[in-house]
Amino acid sequence: MSDCIFCKIVEGTVPSKKVYENESVLAFRDITPAAPVHILIIPKRHIPTMNDVAPEDGALLAEVLLTARQLAQDEGIAESGYRLINNCNSDGGQTAYHLHFHLLGGHPLGVLVE
Ligand code: 5GP
Ligand code: ZN
Repeated sequence: MSDCIFCKIVEGTVPSKKVYENESVLAFRDITPAAPVHILIIPKRHIPTMNDVAPEDGALLAEVLLTARQLAQDEGIAESGYRLINNCNSDGGQTAYHLHFHLLGGHPLGVLVE
């Protein structure tokens, strides 16, 4: 996807502060952090939204989530706690249409859903 900012980050044509990368997953720091730890975890393959995840993408999705879990450990926020968020489409507040999960932590995040 030539006009996708996260695909450009995967390709390296847009710089980012990478924190983890393997063949299929990339994690990098959000450019506008909303918490002391704010990392975006993405599949390298362009999947626009959570709605576009197919059953055969299950292993890839698991890898993205397991990467988030490992990064929470590595960033020292696993015990204090964190939030893992996917925003889907406009009502969900999605602005970057390449599937991503926000890993947020490092201070109390407040109540989002009761
Ligand atoms: P969304 O609102 O789609 O869930 O989140 C998109 C996130 O991507 C936002 O938190 C925004 O700050 C981040 N973002 C947008 N453009 C860039 C960029 O070029 N580099 C990085 N590192 N983050 C970006
Ligand atoms: Zn993309």
